[in-house]
Parts: sequence; C-alpha cells; structure tokens
Amino acid sequence: MMPPRPGPREETEEGTRTRQEEEEKTLASRVSCPPVEGSGTTQGQEDKRKEKRYESWPGNETFFCGGRCVTGPYYWGILGTFLLILIPCTVFVAFVAFPLYKELKGNAGGTVLLVISFLLPCVSMSSLFCSGCMDPGIIPRAPAPVGNTDHISRTRNVEVNGHMVLVRYNETCNFYQPPRAHHCSVLNDCIERFDHYCPWVGTTIGKRNYRFYLIFVFSSTLVCIYTFTCSAFLIQMRVDEPDTTVQEALRKEAGALFIMIYVFIGVWFVGGLSFFHIYLLSKNQTTYENIRHSYDRNYTNPYNRGCLANWAEVFCVKVPPRNCNFAEASNV
Ligand SMILES: [Zn+2]
Repeated sequence: MMPPRPGPREETEEGTRTRQEEEEKTLASRVSCPPVEGSGTTQGQEDKRKEKRYESWPGNETFFCGGRCVTGPYYWGILGTFLLILIPCTVFVAFVAFPLYKELKGNAGGTVLLVISFLLPCVSMSSLFCSGCMDPGIIPRAPAPVGNTDHISRTRNVEVNGHMVLVRYNETCNFYQPPRAHHCSVLNDCIERFDHYCPWVGTTIGKRNYRFYLIFVFSSTLVCIYTFTCSAFLIQMRVDEPDTTVQEALRKEAGALFIMIYVFIGVWFVGGLSFFHIYLLSKNQTTYENIRHSYDRNYTNPYNRGCLANWAEVFCVKVPPRNCNFAEASNV
C-alpha cells in the first residue's frame, strides 16, 4: 500500500509539539483494545451484550473456537501444508522407519530411530498449527476521527534505541503504526513486527507467531534431511545383501525411493527458507524490511543488538500478550 503524502504544514514549533502530544495520548488510548464501533451507544446495547468481539471484527481474519483461534481468510492453505507433511511422513514410518527398526532390532539405535521418526514430524506439524492459528499481533483499529482530519500529519518520527524511525498514520486503522508494524493487505489489519503473509501457513507472520513459524521451517528442513538419510540407508542395506542389484533394491524399497525424491524437491524450499531466516534472525530484520531494502542505504538497523541477542529476542522471551481478546464480549 502506498503511503499517503503528507500535506503542507504551516505551524509554529510549539503548536506542533502540543499537537503531537495530543495525538500521542489519542494513540495510546487507541492501541489498547478500543471499543468496537457503536458499542458505546445505548441503542442496541441490550442486543449486543452477548456478541463476541470477533463476530463484528472488521478485518479479514477467520475465527474458530469462539474467537480463541485466529487465522487468515484462506485458512485451507494450512490444511494442504499439513497433508504435504502427514502423507509422506506416514509413508516414511511405514516403509522406512519400521523396516529399519526391524533390521536394527536389539540395537538401541533402532528405538532412537523410531522415536525421532515420530517426534520430528510431530514438532513440524504442531508448530505449523501453532503459527497458523494464533493471533500474529493484530492491532485493533481505532474509531475514525470525528471532524476535520487535516491536522493529522501523515508521518512522524519516533526514537527507537537512539535512532529516529519514521512511522506512518494508517487511515484504515486510524492510528500511527508502531515501528515495524505494517497493514497486511490480506488480513486487512495492522500487524506488529510484520514479517510476511504466508499462504502455506494460511496467515500473516508477525510478532507473536514468528517463533513458531521458525520452528516449523527449521523442523521441516530437519524432517527432509532425516527422512532422506534413513531412506538412503535402507536402500544401501538392500544393495549390500548378496545377489541384489541396485535396481532390485530400488524395486524392493519403492517407499524409500518415493521419500528420497519427494524430500529432495521439498528441501530446496524449506532449506532455502531456513537459511534465509537464519540470516534475517542474525541481523534482526523482518522479511518485509529485507525485501524493501530498509537498511541498505546507510540506514542503521536500530533493532540489531548482535547475533546472539537477536536470536534470544525471538526464542528466549515469553510470547507477547495479545492486543485484543477476540473471545470477550464486544461491549465490555
Ligand atoms: Zn492497519
């Protein structure tokens, strides 16, 4: 979305400062879960008493479980991704992991192999659903300003870790977007620390679900490497059997061959994505910032605190609280 152009402003420095203070107060009150439009009026209040906030939500999100589960409008993407993991992993367990376990019976390695064969896909699939079904950091819209809005400047500078960062006034959500927030065109809401919209996960990746998205990407890459290695190992065991050619071994272990071809294709996607996000994490950049070359033209990244601290910021902190409880009544 193109940012609106700032209009010409002719104000004294003092007048500008007072105005900015007023706007900051308004923003602070708006960002903390403002009431849904019309909920403050007495007309129809009785009828709305039991209406949940998600039922009148203006964004494009899809809600399940009474507003506790939040996903995007094309949520079936996550079901497709789930099947793309579940089906080959079932084939792998049935045609590779169990035969290998039998071959290695009496050996602790066989049990470990079987446990990892169940555990890794479970981590991948559960992190997929975690990232896809949680609020990515949606910022509730503020009520539209009443009267003349010419006095609202379209941009302003805020200080972040000693650096000045430009933030924009969002006319759909009616507030100055916090630094790193962006209005997602798919969800039609502003998302904190917006990373990107992911059709495979079916929702936007933001401040709250980024960690689970990374676990999904990294664990999927490990699933690919692990299943490929085990399948190759099983085929090699067959080849090593007396009077067995490579062709006969491949015919015998068609399931292992299928897995090797399937994950060889898949690993280019998830493996590439893993390397990309390892780079972004180490530099404390979002995908959106990287694509827009936000820090290329001598702009220092004010969020970069060093590689280790950047990783700790994502993996070693509590999931930030939601800005809005969609499951509560809209008129509380
Ligand atoms: Zn917005």
